[in-house]
Formats: sequence, C-alpha cells, structure tokens
Amino acid sequence: MRRATAAGAPSATPRTRRRTTLRFDLRDRVAVGNQLLLCGIVVVLFVGGTLAGVLSSPGVFAIGTLLIAVATIATLAVPWTRVAPAWVALVPLVDIVAIAVLRVAEPPAGLGLLWAFPAMWLASLGLAGLIVSCVLIPLLYWVLLVVGPASAFTFSTLLLPIVIIAISSAGYVATRRFTAQRDLLDAQAARLAFARSAAVRQEQLVTEVLDTVDFGVVRLSVGGDIVYENDAVGRLSSAIPELHPASGRTTLLAEDGRTPLPANDHPLARTRRGETFDDVVVWSQDAEGRRSALTFTARRLIDHRGEDGGAVLVARDVTAEREALRARDDLVASVSHELRTPLTSVLGYLELALDEEDLPERARRYVDTALSSSERLLAIVADILTASRRSLQSVESSVHPREIDVVEIVRASILALRPLADDRVIKVTVDGAESAVAYADPGRLRQVIDNLLGNAIKFNRDGGSIEVTVHTDGDTTTIAVRDTGIGIGEEDRGRVFERFFRASEDIAGNGLGLAISHEIVRAHDGELTVASEPGVGSTFTVALPAKAGTRVTR
Ligand code: ADP
Repeated sequence: MRRATAAGAPSATPRTRRRTTLRFDLRDRVAVGNQLLLCGIVVVLFVGGTLAGVLSSPGVFAIGTLLIAVATIATLAVPWTRVAPAWVALVPLVDIVAIAVLRVAEPPAGLGLLWAFPAMWLASLGLAGLIVSCVLIPLLYWVLLVVGPASAFTFSTLLLPIVIIAISSAGYVATRRFTAQRDLLDAQAARLAFARSAAVRQEQLVTEVLDTVDFGVVRLSVGGDIVYENDAVGRLSSAIPELHPASGRTTLLAEDGRTPLPANDHPLARTRRGETFDDVVVWSQDAEGRRSALTFTARRLIDHRGEDGGAVLVARDVTAEREALRARDDLVASVSHELRTPLTSVLGYLELALDEEDLPERARRYVDTALSSSERLLAIVADILTASRRSLQSVESSVHPREIDVVEIVRASILALRPLADDRVIKVTVDGAESAVAYADPGRLRQVIDNLLGNAIKFNRDGGSIEVTVHTDGDTTTIAVRDTGIGIGEEDRGRVFERFFRASEDIAGNGLGLAISHEIVRAHDGELTVASEPGVGSTFTVALPAKAGTRVTR
C-alpha cells in the first residue's frame, strides 16, 4: 500500500536544543569571523612594524599580539555549544586587554580603534555585554591616556569612546533585530511542522479507516496515475489486472457474464478517461473457471481550489449477491416449470368435465370457476418462467416478426380486457391512425399490449380513462397507452422495467409484466419508455420498426 510516511511533531526538548545549537552556531561564526580579522590585522601590524623597525616597544607589542592569537585559537578550538554562554564573553574581554597592551606599546598609532571588534562582539551577547563594552573600553582608554605619556586632552579623547559606544549600540540593535527575526522564523517553522504533522496524522487516520473497509478504493491523479489503493484492493485484484499483473490469466467479462470486456472498457480505463459511473458490473474468471463479480463506481475529485483533483474508483465484491439472485431465478424457474405440467393436466380434466352433458348445473359452475382460476394460475406460471433470466435471454430467438397491422392487435386486446375495465367504470378509447404497420411478432406484441392495458386498468382510479394512440411515420410505429391512474414517482420510474420490481405493494402483482414487455420490445429492435406524474397518470410508449430493415427513430 502506498502511504505517507509517519512523522510526528518534534517534541519540545529536541526543538529547544536545536534552537540553542543554532544560536551558538551563528555566534561561533560571527565570533570566528571577527576574531580572525582582528588577529590578522594585529599580526600584519606586528610583522610589518618589526620588519620596518618602526615599533617603539616590540616586546610589549608581541605580548598584545600573543594574547590576541591565544584568544583566536580558543575561539577556534573551544566547543562553544557545550560551554555556558557567559564564558563566551571571555574572548572579547581578553581582546580588550590585549588591545590595551598594544596601545601601551604604541600610544600614537591609534590602535584603540581595534576595540571596535570586541565591542561589537560583546554587544551581540546581550544588554550586559553592551554595558560592559560601553563602560569598560572608554574607561580603559581614559586610564591609559591619564597614565600614558603626553596626556593632553584632545578631541580624540572623546571621539574614540563615542565611536565605540555607537558601534556597540549598533551591534546590539542589529543583534536584537536579528534575534527577533530568527524567533519569528522559529515560530513559523514550528507552526509549519505542527500543521504538517496534523496533516500526516489526518492522512494516516483516513488510510487506516479505508484499510478496514471491505470495498476497494483506488485514487487516481489528474494524469491518471494510481496514487493510492487500500488493502481491500489486494483482495479484489483479480478484477483489476492492471494493478496486479500476476493475475493476467484472468478473463474479464461484461455484466452479462458472457461478453469479453475489452481493456478499453474496463472501469479503470474509463475512469482515466474522465468518465463517472455507478455500479458497473465486471465478472472475472480465473484459469480454473472460478468467477467473481465486482461493481465499480467512479467519481471525479475536486481539490480545495475547486479544480480537477483526479478521480476515485470504488470496487465492491458482489459475487454472493449475484449468486443469490441466480439461485432465486433458478429456483423460481424450476418451480414454475414443475408446476406447469400438473396444471396443464388439471386444466385438461376440467375442460373434459365441462364437456360432460349430465353434469349438474351447480357442479358446472364450480368447475367453470376452477377452470378460470387454473387458467389464471397457468398465466402467472408462464409469466414467471418467461421472466427467469435464461428465458429473457432467449426471448430474442423466440420472436418471429412480420409486417402486421398494429391497430388490429390493439383493438383485439381492448376487446379482451373490456370486462375488466367495465367493472371499474374505466373508459378505453383508441385514437390516431386507422391502421399502422409494424414489423413485429403478433403474438408477442399482443402480450405487450395486454400487459400495458392490464396495468393501465389495474393502476387506474374507478371512473378513470385510458387512451391508446397509434401513430406511424413509415419508419417507426408507436403505440402509446395513457391512463389517469396513480402514476409513478421519479425514483421508481427508472426501475419499473426491472424484474420483480413493484412500486405499489398494496396492489396485487408479481413485478414481471413490464420486464417481459421490455425484453420483447427490445428483441424487436424497438423501445419501451415511460412518462408519468404521480397522482395524474402514466403513459407507456412502445416504438417499433415500421418495416423490415428500418430503425426506430424518435
Ligand atoms: P405488476 O403489475 O405485476 O406489479 P409490472 O412489471 O407490470 O408488474 O409493473 C411493475 C410495477 O410498475 C407495478 O408494480 C407498478 O408499481 C408500476 N406500474 C406499472 N404500470 C403502471 C401504471 N400504468 N401506473 C402506475 N404504476 C404502474
């Protein structure tokens, strides 16, 4: 599984230590830079002065140079990060004394200016450093002036201390500003680290939740690359061979479980093309013939800027559900098949009984009722048999179309169902063409019209009406059955052609008539559609090719 790496927020202790180290690192660098520069200048002055023979007290000058050299070596050698901050101040203090020694050696050389180096360093250590540098250096300077030779008060008696105080103050302010900026940066870095760790925690949580569910989740980037897959995808891998090439010997089939699925039509490929879809079923069959069914749902993702953020594909194993449906179909088909033979025999014997001349009138009435109930039972059994999946698949082969007059069939169907309509005072009218040719199987078309008319009566209100309109344009012939019944809600409208679906449970039925009709019309290369408004009524429209070779155009 691809996941983000876990990285919690750094704890307080390491963070503080890091900050301190950073501070001393910076101080080290400033100190080393300053000290090396000072040492360089002094050594050059000493060597130059000695070579040129201009030093009045080379011995004293050498002591001052040596002191600065020692302080420089200490600066380079001492691990300041491990030493208490106050000890750092020792180096500039040694420098101040060393420069005082140099100045004693060469009073007129103006070497007091070198105090600028330790003054800056001390000021950078904090307020105490600033005070020490502003007090100590001028004091030392004036003491040297007083005890030194030719101690006359000149302009420079004040100028040097003022310059030193100005340099110290500037150094102090610059360090404060630098420290404030660094603290701000530290705070922002800490906030960033916290936000990052919160995001990582969130992602981990989502990942863990997704790994516990039993449906597969695959996330694709905008470019179509797989950027995430949860644990369940591994278990469903056989249906997504691209993710697991080892399952290459698996055959993928479309929803009907028979048609091979081209690689281009695989839900993953479709998701990559930017398609979104719901519950697309794919069957996979391994080399041993084991089959499993998966439904795929794809959605596009929108990122926080409202732009395309890739896609997510969700896969669910529905093998058990599909197997249960198949088992139900098989059971229904075999039970109804088994019922048909004895029922046919019952019907035959009842008809024989009715043929008996000496049958008492009362018994005749009983047998008559038994006969019509048996006929109804046989019709139901026939419906169930037709609706079983295997029979539906064979509807196509049992349709034998020819050019027929649709109006004739409609009128015959109305005639047969009129008693039912009359019972509920429902008016049935035929409108439109006097005759209209369609390329259809008359027996099958009658079955469809009977079913639509039967429903239009069954789901109508007492005293309502039914209008059957036949129309043809030479290419397509349509039969519309409009009723003034209870109507069908929007969410049910798309499902009325499913087997066993019933929108109104309180009105008797088996939910098979429309599924059979739909299949029959489809086998004619036609279309069966519905338009409806709850409480107002429904219109079912059958569109059929008018002649052999024409196509339904609507
Ligand atoms: P059945 O009528 O046996 O229930 P059908 O397959 O013929 O089965 O119809 C399926 C469902 O569609 C019905 O149960 C009903 O809810 C709805 N339906 C069909 N025709 C109509 C209609 N004309 N008016 C309202 N609802 C209808």
